[in-house]
Amino acid sequence: MTDGSNLQDVINNDWCIGCGVCSHADASIEVELDPRTLMYRPSSPGDERAASVCPAVAVDFAGLHEWLFPGAPVSEFGVVDTVLLAQSTDEQRNLAASSGGLIKELLRHYLASEDVDGVIALSHVEGLDFRQTVLTKPDEVDTLPGSIYHNLAQPESLTLLRENPGRYVLVGIPCQLEGIYQYIREFEPELKQKIHSTVGLLCGWQYNHHALRALGSYKKFDAEEITNVQYRGGGPIGKLRITTPEKEHVIGRRVDFGYQVAFDRSFNLARCHVCVDHSNFLADLVVGDAWLPSTVTTRTGVSMVVCRTAEASAAMAALETAGSIVTALASTSEVLESQKRRVVYGDFAYAYSEYLAEIGVPVPVMIGPNRSGAKLSPRKEVERFHDEFTRKVALQREGRYRFLFWRKATVELRRHLSRYVNWFFVRVLKVKSIFGKRDEVNRELLKGFR
Ligand SMILES: Cc1cc2nc3c(=O)[nH]c(=O)nc-3n(C[C@H](O)[C@H](O)[C@H](O)COP(=O)(O)OP(=O)(O)OC[C@H]3O[C@@H](n4cnc5c(N)ncnc54)[C@H](O)[C@@H]3O)c2cc1C
Ligand code: SF4
Ligand code: SF4
Repeated sequence: MTDGSNLQDVINNDWCIGCGVCSHADASIEVELDPRTLMYRPSSPGDERAASVCPAVAVDFAGLHEWLFPGAPVSEFGVVDTVLLAQSTDEQRNLAASSGGLIKELLRHYLASEDVDGVIALSHVEGLDFRQTVLTKPDEVDTLPGSIYHNLAQPESLTLLRENPGRYVLVGIPCQLEGIYQYIREFEPELKQKIHSTVGLLCGWQYNHHALRALGSYKKFDAEEITNVQYRGGGPIGKLRITTPEKEHVIGRRVDFGYQVAFDRSFNLARCHVCVDHSNFLADLVVGDAWLPSTVTTRTGVSMVVCRTAEASAAMAALETAGSIVTALASTSEVLESQKRRVVYGDFAYAYSEYLAEIGVPVPVMIGPNRSGAKLSPRKEVERFHDEFTRKVALQREGRYRFLFWRKATVELRRHLSRYVNWFFVRVLKVKSIFGKRDEVNRELLKGFR
């Protein structure tokens, strides 16, 4: 358990995810990029005020659920009203987006409604810098980026919420919303009324900036000179597009070996490995990718949307009635099929967290509603991961990206290739579906999808 009197354990163990709420609780703190870890962290440990809201110290899922969704039944998937597969009917918007273009359709819908004054969402500033900004007109929504997978400092949401009059729709990844809500509940409860709704992204991981540096060393660009980065877009998986003053580097995310090395799990933030909230338990609407055999052949991305409230389901229904999206009713079993147990139940995260606590590492305290369904990953797997993660992180910090490349091409090759074989059999040949080991969404229901 991390020490709750300040953020020293968070700093020492690289648990920070850059949400920035500590800097609101304790004004002496700034969130800055650590030049060695290339992850954001607080400039100083601060005191118990900062620690009390930091989602890298603890997250009070039970208390926050009751505070946000009073009286609603909380399942292992969190509070669920409906689950839908959905896609924007605007082909260009869908192609520009990360999955189905759903977030942008939702934001346009909310901005057109009278009881919403604006949207607070991430937008591009310059280079690798992306920050929260306020949008007030539906036409501004298409300027927002798709998913940004590198680590960011995001202290602005609270400032914008505080400084702008009215009610806002907030877009955020799970750990960001955890921090924001813990801060609001503790220090500025009046801000809660200013949040009309939250649109959450499902989130499997985030990457430190060594990932981009490593990729630069394989693809011959200088990560310091990046002027823009787009991780998705152009189809269901999409290509990574990195712009430098010389050229645009277009890199296949599924097959490019350099990408597979630079964006492997060792480049994820430490906290992502103990994260149990990939499904964004606190957001009203959660949008992720629909990775199902029935969606594998769609030309453009399809989103999986979890509506946690009746109002959220009504917003989706209104979009469908207006012809802005197509939907197919799904269920939590499709969420599980699409995202896997480690994302939904935190099988690995709970096991890894227990292991770290046992070997004396102070870990964030996080017991989500999915804990009862978790089947902890075997100890051997956890230990092997920990050893490999520790070794690879040290190599990253020494800038030995070439070594990591050759490591994956030799000692790790078999493991690496088996992932493709698994993907091909399960998603393309649909072997599990043929043998009845997974339920399929009826293709008839996806008739209207591209
Ligand atoms: C770090 C990260 C990891 C993810 N991991 C998974 C995963 O494992 N599985 C899965 O199914 N889906 C994951 N997603 C979500 C997925 O990539 C899509 O973002 C989601 O399906 C929404 O797609 P869309 O087409 O509706 O939205 P888009 O049209 O692509 O809109 C994206 C919206 O999210 C905002 N945004 C982008 N990046 C961030 C960020 N880092 N922090 C806060 N706001 C942001 C933008 O402002 C924009 O409003 C992840 C997203 C992120 C950012
Ligand atoms: S996780 Fe958020 S609150 Fe905690 S130290 Fe990092 S920026 Fe501050
Ligand atoms: S996986 Fe969890 S900790 Fe990591 S960025 Fe996503 S929500 Fe935050």
